[in-house]
Amino acid sequence: MDLSKLVKTTDTRPDSAPRKLSIVFASSEVVPFSKTGGLADVAASLPKALAKRGHNVAIFTPLYKHLDPEAMRLARRLRPLEVPRRAKSQAKVECTIWEARIEGGVSVFFLENEEFFGRDGLYGYEDKNFEDNAERFAFFSRAVVEFARQLNLPVEVIHCNDWHTALAPVYKDYYYEGELDQVATVLTLHNLAYQGSFDKAAFKATGLPKRFESTDELLDEEGKVNFLKSAILHADVITAVSPTYAKEIQTEDKGFGLHDALKGRAGDLVGILNGADYSIWGPTVDRYIPVRYNIEELNGKRRNKAELQHEFGLPIRPTLPTLAMISRLTEQKGLDILIPALEELLAGFEDEQQGFQFVVLGDGNNEYTKSLERLAKRYPRRVAVNLGYSEEKAHKIQAGADMLLIPSRFEPCGLTQIYAMRYGTLPIVHATGGLADTVIDAGKDGETGSGFVFHEYTKEALIEAISRASQMYRNYRRWRPLMVSAMREDFSWATSAIQYEEAYYRALAKKEKPAKKTKKAKA
Ligand code: ADP
Repeated sequence: MDLSKLVKTTDTRPDSAPRKLSIVFASSEVVPFSKTGGLADVAASLPKALAKRGHNVAIFTPLYKHLDPEAMRLARRLRPLEVPRRAKSQAKVECTIWEARIEGGVSVFFLENEEFFGRDGLYGYEDKNFEDNAERFAFFSRAVVEFARQLNLPVEVIHCNDWHTALAPVYKDYYYEGELDQVATVLTLHNLAYQGSFDKAAFKATGLPKRFESTDELLDEEGKVNFLKSAILHADVITAVSPTYAKEIQTEDKGFGLHDALKGRAGDLVGILNGADYSIWGPTVDRYIPVRYNIEELNGKRRNKAELQHEFGLPIRPTLPTLAMISRLTEQKGLDILIPALEELLAGFEDEQQGFQFVVLGDGNNEYTKSLERLAKRYPRRVAVNLGYSEEKAHKIQAGADMLLIPSRFEPCGLTQIYAMRYGTLPIVHATGGLADTVIDAGKDGETGSGFVFHEYTKEALIEAISRASQMYRNYRRWRPLMVSAMREDFSWATSAIQYEEAYYRALAKKEKPAKKTKKAKA
């Protein structure tokens, strides 16, 4: 594949949308209010980019317990939102809606509901998912449609993200027929590994009519209630967060059981690369990093590296490459090949001048955190492990490290490699999903490229890539141009926002057809 086509699009189209739309953008997490992963970043930065093109975007998200409307000075909407508790019954729950304006003219609306969101945690607490997640997010999805319906201005598009809001297109089709027929639905798949898949007992929580209990419209092959599958059949247009991922998820290997449903919608499925919000992520603007720097003034990066080494308790060694990882520590992220690769490499270094240092910031599986802590104990002058979540540390690592490791088994898009490139921190990535679409391999000689790519998902291939990168690092005359070309890559939202806009137009065009409902793809 010719990567340059994907990553270096210069768009000559005008900045303003040809037709301005009114969009409800529904997401279970939104930066800076709530975040467990990349979805939260996208849920803030994409709406901003769409608003910049002239669209009217309202973000809709839960008011979690850690969000205090008074401290945040949110505005309370006069009219509460009435949400049917169960779709069939007439009983409605009154929910307060709070509003915040974020930069770029976008409003964020928070749904307050003590029963479902007035607790610690977004999806669970201390490693355990909440048992009523089906009910919580079925309710939230229903609230999305009600919000679109009760908003002052006529909404044209409901944009759902992942399983948490996936039932919205289904509810819209079944409970608002005749009323919201002109409203188009778009579903974005950020990670197919999470589907909102529940035991059949959860069917009641959806409130959907009885016939859903026995059809493949809601149930997956294992007979489980599957929110995402249902949305794949109902949304007018489906997007995946990178072109390669859009293809991968249609294969049995990477489709997590939904590949047939997705193949059935292939004509309505597009891959759109995530963008980065460079007003937050960039060495010239970053408010967390000790020293700001830019392409012309790369010395600042060295100082950030020294600060990072100091803060993480490692010896300050300018010439030793600092490798880093900022990640959820789950099976997806490649820890099963990374940990043995590090063990092997670290055991082989004979003196302190050799090899590299490794810094990790993350949280997740016990098994991985324990192995990483063991490594840090064994190699305290080389390995520093920071467990937990820290926005500040994430920024400092991006600025101070030399390379960022993202050996993911699969990666829908990935944002950390996109951020890393902006800081001249070269990513080492497995060629999958969005990693394959964004990182250009430096090759053996490092003449061009923006990082290091390995193709086989094996410990050996990863070791080869780390060794190649570490060796190249020692020759600054080669390394510097690579940093510069990585920093010049542009993954701002401008191009991707236009592609989303086109997806909305496409979804709306379907609504304009007078013909009766399109037949849903058979899963
Ligand atoms: P995913 O969505 O699968 O978690 P992405 O690369 O798309 O992966 O997004 C990860 C986002 O979460 C990035 O903004 C990254 O900086 C952030 N992140 C991940 N782990 C941590 C952590 N432990 N502390 C702070 N930020 C983190």
